[in-house]
Amino acid sequence: EPDPTLRPDAQPEDQDRALRPQALDQFIGQAEARANLRVFIQSARTRGEAMDHTLFHGPPGLGKTTLAQIIARELGVGFRMTSGPVLAKAGDLAAILTNLEARDVLFIDEIHRLNPAVEEVLYPAMEDHELDLVIGEGPAARTVRIELQPFTLVGATTRLGLLTTPLRDRFGIPTRLQFYTVGELHQIVTRNAQLLGVPADEGGAEEIARRARGTPRIAGRLLRRVVDFAVVEGDGQVTRTLADHALTRLGVDQLGLDGADRRYLRLIAENYAGGPVGIETIGAALSESRDALEDVIEPYLLQQGLIQRTPRGRMLAHKGWRHLGLDAPKAGGD
Ligand code: ADP
Repeated sequence: EPDPTLRPDAQPEDQDRALRPQALDQFIGQAEARANLRVFIQSARTRGEAMDHTLFHGPPGLGKTTLAQIIARELGVGFRMTSGPVLAKAGDLAAILTNLEARDVLFIDEIHRLNPAVEEVLYPAMEDHELDLVIGEGPAARTVRIELQPFTLVGATTRLGLLTTPLRDRFGIPTRLQFYTVGELHQIVTRNAQLLGVPADEGGAEEIARRARGTPRIAGRLLRRVVDFAVVEGDGQVTRTLADHALTRLGVDQLGLDGADRRYLRLIAENYAGGPVGIETIGAALSESRDALEDVIEPYLLQQGLIQRTPRGRMLAHKGWRHLGLDAPKAGGD
């Protein structure tokens, strides 16, 4: 069974926080997003205004929350954090908005999961810094308009396609986060090892980076697990041999795929002759929600060219067959 704590969307551990880069200069990777943010932050500071609303989208664990915190710190303003599913009623959001101070950053994670009634409150707040509150009920109900402080909304989503158009249109700065290169992850692992006071050599850091599924959160977790093996079964040093041994024991293969990824690939290969097979069918067979497949599992498999998305469903690509050590059927495959 796959280790759930190694999934990119697993709940953050306390220790994750210790590894969070605190400033834009400490943030590795996402060069284009970082360069643009630097300009927008500096401009907002110079003008003494709230920065424009910013939307981060991309797979879990790539640094959306981290960047939101960095923006607030670099702007020198307060940071409030909530998430779409937590804001059940319009009043929940109203309570947060009325407590914001001028130019604060409000971070809403999983913003695609906002309840429509809450989203309605957000529109005038984002556009005109106004809040329309309904007071009382029935015929006595009346609307009161409240002026809000100007603020910056930073939204994060793993699923841009699930955002309503009016919400999407209200973000001045939409930013897509990409999977990290092995080189970038290598730098991140090296930095994390230093922060944790762990001796990791070049080869050890590189092996973890190669198998971190393009994701800093996973790199951080793999490093901790490898350190456990280094302490108990080695001499405390994170070397390539030790990292390879530990990652193999954890079920993380040469490409960084874990048990859940391989189960997905094997299902298409063995039960559907390489596909195409619909996402709902895959979800039912694996007992995974469609959302989990689309948010967490598929983006990396697609990026690695292991699978393809076609109008008729998912297909195993040549590289996917090869990775499983199987031959693609003559007529099928890609
Ligand atoms: P998301 O909000 O996209 O799910 P987070 O911002 O919570 O991702 O980041 C997940 C973990 O990865 C955090 O522990 C964070 O410190 C680390 N991390 C993310 N991006 C970077 C980066 N560019 N450099 C170093 N660590 C990073």
